[in-house]
Amino acid sequence: MVAREADVIVVGAGLSGLAAARAVLDAGHEPLVVEADDRVGGRILTEDVDGVPLELGAQWIGDTHHRMEALAGELGVGIYDQFEDGETTYEFAGEVLRGEAFHAKYADELAGLERVLRELDRMAETVPVEAPWTAPRADEWDRITVGQWLDGQGLGPVARTLQEICTVGILAMPTVEVSLLCLLQNIAVCGVTAELLAESEGGAQTKRFVGGTSLIPQRLAETLGDRIVLNSPVLTIDHSADRVVVGCRGGFSAVGRQVIVALAPTLAGRIMYDPPLPGVRDQLTQRMPQASAHKSFVLYDEPFWRDEGLNAQLISEIGPARMSNDSCLPDASAGPGIILCFLEGESARVAGRWPAEQRAAALRDELGRHFGPRAAAPVRIVEGEWASRQWTRGCYNANTGPCGLIHFGSALSAPIGPIKWAATETANAWAGYMEGAVEAGRRAAAECLADL
Ligand SMILES: Cc1cc2nc3c(=O)[nH]c(=O)nc-3n(C[C@H](O)[C@H](O)[C@H](O)COP(=O)(O)OP(=O)(O)OC[C@H]3O[C@@H](n4cnc5c(N)ncnc54)[C@H](O)[C@@H]3O)c2cc1C
Repeated sequence: MVAREADVIVVGAGLSGLAAARAVLDAGHEPLVVEADDRVGGRILTEDVDGVPLELGAQWIGDTHHRMEALAGELGVGIYDQFEDGETTYEFAGEVLRGEAFHAKYADELAGLERVLRELDRMAETVPVEAPWTAPRADEWDRITVGQWLDGQGLGPVARTLQEICTVGILAMPTVEVSLLCLLQNIAVCGVTAELLAESEGGAQTKRFVGGTSLIPQRLAETLGDRIVLNSPVLTIDHSADRVVVGCRGGFSAVGRQVIVALAPTLAGRIMYDPPLPGVRDQLTQRMPQASAHKSFVLYDEPFWRDEGLNAQLISEIGPARMSNDSCLPDASAGPGIILCFLEGESARVAGRWPAEQRAAALRDELGRHFGPRAAAPVRIVEGEWASRQWTRGCYNANTGPCGLIHFGSALSAPIGPIKWAATETANAWAGYMEGAVEAGRRAAAECLADL
C-alpha cells in the first residue's frame, strides 16, 4: 500500500481543491491533492474539437468575479468579452418575436415581472449569506418552493413562463424542487440580486477565457507540481483531532493533520468517514442533489446571425433548448459560428435523455424557427452531459428543497474537527460558480491553517 504524508490533504482537484491547496502552500505548509479522475478541473472541461475549444463545463465569469479575474491574470490566461450585440428572439404563444416586438407586445406582463424581480431583491437583502436559516422570515420562505411563490405573484402566463425559464437557467432544477429561501440565498451570495435572474445573460456571464477555461485549473495544478495524485477516488477518511488518513481505491493513502473535502455535498456524502459524521451533516448531503443541465454546441461555418442583427440568444417555452447564446471564439470571423443551446432542469431530464439524433433534429428545428433556415443546417453538434460523469453526477451545482436550509443548512460548511468543507456549494460569494469555488477553497484553507 502506497502512502504519502502532507500537512493538509485535499480531496478533489476541481478549482476549489486547487485553490485551497495553493493557499496552503502559499502559507508555508504542504498540501497533497487526491483526485478521482484522470485530469484536474472537475466541472471545468474544455474539449478540443478539431482545434475548436468548446466549454463542456464552466464557460463565463461576470464583472464582479474579481477572484477569477485576478487568478487568470496571475496564470497568464487572457479574457475576452461575451458577444451580446443584437436582438434576442422569444418563442411564446405559438410565435417567434424579436426582442423589440416581444417587449412591445407583452409590456404589461413584463412590468409585472419587473415588480417580482424587485421584490426578490428586497427579500434577498434580508438573508445573511453565511447563515440564511437565520433570516427573519427564513422559516416561512424555506417551507415553500420557488414555484409556489412565483405562482402567487399574479404574473400573466407569458411573464410566469419567462420567469420560470430564467430561474431554471440559474438553478438547473424545476422551481417546484427548490425552496424560496434557497433561491434568495442564491441571489444574496451573488450580490447582483435580480440581475442573476434577469433574461439578459448579464451579471454572471460577461467574459470568457482565451484558449479555454481549463487553462485555469491546469496552470494552477502546474504550480502545485507533484502535490497532485490523479486516478485515486477517495473512499474513506479516518479522522481524529489532529490526524487524518485518506484511503483511495487502488490502495493509495494520504496521511495528514487536516483534510479539505472539496466535493459537492452529494459526492462528499459518498465517502465513508470513521468515526461517522454527525447525523445532521449526513442528512444534509442526502438533501443537496446535483442539478440537471446539458449543453449542446451547434457549429456553423460562420456566425451568420450577427449580420442579421441577432445575438443568437433565444428564449423558448417550447424547447428543447429554453435558452441559447453566441459562443464563438474571440475572432469569430476566422472560426466557426457557434450557438450554445442550454437544456436545463426538466429539459435536461427529458430531451437530454433522448437519442442524440432525436435531440439534434429537435434542436435544428428550433434554431430554424428562431434564426432562419441557415440555423437549421449546422455543420455539427457537440454535447456536454454531466449526470453520467461519475465524479460530478449533475450540474451546475446543488440546491436545497423545502426545509433543507432551516433544518440542515448549518452543517454545510461547519468544520468537523480536522475535516473542512470546500467546493462552490459552500461559498459565501458566488456559490455555484467558479468564483465561489475559489472563495470556498481559500476559506477552507484558512480554517486548516488556523488549526495547524
Ligand atoms: C456544464 C456546466 C456549466 C457551468 N457554467 C459555469 C459558468 O459559465 N461560470 C461559472 O462560474 N461556473 C459554471 N459552472 C459551475 C462551475 O463549473 C463550478 O462552480 C466549479 O467548477 C466547481 O468547482 P469545485 O472545485 O467546487 O467542484 P468540482 O469541479 O466538482 O470539483 C470536484 C473534484 O472532485 C473530484 N472528485 C469527486 N469525487 C471524488 C472522490 N471520491 N475522490 C477524489 N476526488 C473526487 C472530481 O473529479 C472533481 O475534480 C458550470 C458547471 C457545469 C458543469
